[in-house]
Amino acid sequence: MMLADVILPLALQGSLTYRVPATLAPQVRVGMLVIVPVRRKHYTAIVISTREAEDQSTLRDMTSIVEPLPLVRPEQLRLWRWMAQYYMCTPGEVAKAALPAGFKDEEKMARRAAKTSQSVPDFTLPTVKPLPEQLRHQLSEAQETAVQQIGEAWDKTPVVLLHGVTSSGKTEVYIRLIQEALARGEQVLYLVPEIALTTQLTTRLGKVFGEQMGIWHSKFTDKQRMDLWRRQLTPEAYPLVLGVRSAVFLPWQRLGLIIVDEEHEQSYKQQDPAPRYHARDVATVIGQMLQAHVLLGSATPALETYTNAKQGKYGYVTLTQRYGGVEMPEIVVENMKELKRKKLLTSPFSPRLTEETRDALREGQQAIFFQNRRGYSPVLTCRSCGWTPKCTRCDVSLTFHKAKDGYEGTRDMGRGTLRCHYCGATYQVPVKCPQCGDTELRDIGYGTEKIEAAAKAVFPDARIQRMDLDTTRSRRSYEEIITDFQAGKKNLLVGTQMVTKGLDFGRVRVVGILHADQMLTQPDFRAYERSFQMLSQVAGRAGRRSGRGRVILQTSQPELPVVQHIVRNDYEAFYAQEMEERQLFRYPPCARIIYIYVKSPKDQVAETAARVMADMLRPYLQPGDLLGPERPYVARVSLQYIRRIMIKTDATAPPTDIRRLLMGARQYIVQQPDLKGVNIYFDVDPV
Ligand code: ADP
Ligand code: ZN
Ligand code: ZN
Repeated sequence: MMLADVILPLALQGSLTYRVPATLAPQVRVGMLVIVPVRRKHYTAIVISTREAEDQSTLRDMTSIVEPLPLVRPEQLRLWRWMAQYYMCTPGEVAKAALPAGFKDEEKMARRAAKTSQSVPDFTLPTVKPLPEQLRHQLSEAQETAVQQIGEAWDKTPVVLLHGVTSSGKTEVYIRLIQEALARGEQVLYLVPEIALTTQLTTRLGKVFGEQMGIWHSKFTDKQRMDLWRRQLTPEAYPLVLGVRSAVFLPWQRLGLIIVDEEHEQSYKQQDPAPRYHARDVATVIGQMLQAHVLLGSATPALETYTNAKQGKYGYVTLTQRYGGVEMPEIVVENMKELKRKKLLTSPFSPRLTEETRDALREGQQAIFFQNRRGYSPVLTCRSCGWTPKCTRCDVSLTFHKAKDGYEGTRDMGRGTLRCHYCGATYQVPVKCPQCGDTELRDIGYGTEKIEAAAKAVFPDARIQRMDLDTTRSRRSYEEIITDFQAGKKNLLVGTQMVTKGLDFGRVRVVGILHADQMLTQPDFRAYERSFQMLSQVAGRAGRRSGRGRVILQTSQPELPVVQHIVRNDYEAFYAQEMEERQLFRYPPCARIIYIYVKSPKDQVAETAARVMADMLRPYLQPGDLLGPERPYVARVSLQYIRRIMIKTDATAPPTDIRRLLMGARQYIVQQPDLKGVNIYFDVDPV
């Protein structure tokens, strides 16, 4: 009798075993998508192993096979296992994240299983024709050298960091390396941190690779993603796939190269739900498993990555000049405290930024304003008594949005809504203060909507576009915003961190960084690193082709060393200073961190469970290696009270011991009757 172990794309602990009926046995193979009964329901599941054994009548029968070919390759299963172990979650959670939703829909799949033959995937792109050879870019001397050095570095280490200033032409270097890999018959995965980037790169790479390129991101329909997945298992597999974070889960037949563009980006890390993985780190593991080369690219490498390069674990290649001899932008710091004191501020834009932007727009150039908060204002408050609307489910004040769903011109313009940026709940704006009855609420602080409104007043002739989560809900809206700005239909782009990530616009002369303080004062040990990266990146959007760009950085803390490092574009000095702190306080990359999150609908339960957890762990850890439990900055989200414990381990320590310890402690706590309903999970290498 054949038995099969399967994993369900659910948060179950281990695998489940089923009997394989004689009719199915000849076809069942590892990696296949099948349907199995669990209690009174049916689920899709992936077969992870099969064996011959005595009949076990306590086991239930597998119901059916969904598709005639395995959907998941053995090395993917190996990766899933590694991820579950490293990131401390269940294989089912990894499977859930890995598989497109459609594969998990047992009803649809059951209907599909009823069909005998499998249709050929009909995945087709927003198709671009490749340019003829002679119209393509010739690499500059510096780029040629970089290509050669990367090749040499790969001979020694499988992972190489390409550290190239913004607009040095890293993408052109990637293109050459991809061409070489494809010529060898290898497949290439090109990872980007942001969907907005796939839009630009689709056009740019499409000109070279045309129909050889597949695209993978969350705004594609489920069917498109299922089709791409299936296609990658056939002889028609795309040799090149451009994708966001979750593309690390795709099947490969002969992967030779992984490019991780903007490797420092935080969005490579999945925060919620599990697996809380970092796509860059997973990429290096895939590289190792499949013996593929990995290239990490950035103008502002993560401290972890740069340290690995310095220690010789990664190869290291630089591009120090912008392509075409274009100068790095000039960064001017505006001291907002000073300007305010002198009463020189009549809008959120300093006089200098106002003037430079006016000039640029008048001369047919463009500007980008970066404000790292969406909505109109982050806080509303009563004029008389200071009452502030808060989310009833979370410990945060509500963000005031003027435009419904972020779109202008829709029905509710003017009245607006209050939104919780943590749980997504929306509320009506109260007509009067529930505490004192005053009818006047003031909006405090700035979000992108308010910046957009202010820009309309200050630059009445500008063609303004806002780009944030609210204006990019659909895939088309992304593409439209980017192509409109690229074509000059719009000339002033106001946006959140979305506008910082590697976009390439030719006519941006001015970049305004508004309220840089928000980032600089975040209560997190990575605040300066993030600020350095984000602000240098957004500055890098300026003056990429036609003449030197100008960046106006507005802050009330111009004296901070990190601000000076940004202004001088001095990564080395920034790195040296930051590493001193990290060493002193034992933070990554000088140590590893695991956060333990303890959540409960009851504050007292969360508190007790976190205390017990900490007390259990402390004897096994060095003094100072367990911090907390503490209430995080936002201590209640979606009705769950939160506590957090920070665990530090040696950067070189074997990770298995500490994991066993943490899992054991969790197991004990969740079984305590008086701590019922407590939810404990781990975030490994948090960012
Ligand atoms: P990075 O990825 O380093 O920010 P890009 O690859 O986007 O830089 O290059 C910046 C700009 O310079 C782009 O508009 C690109 O088309 C142009 N560019 C870079 N290298 C070349 C080249 N060899 N030939 C022509 N244009 C180039
Ligand atoms: Zn009031
Ligand atoms: Zn909320």
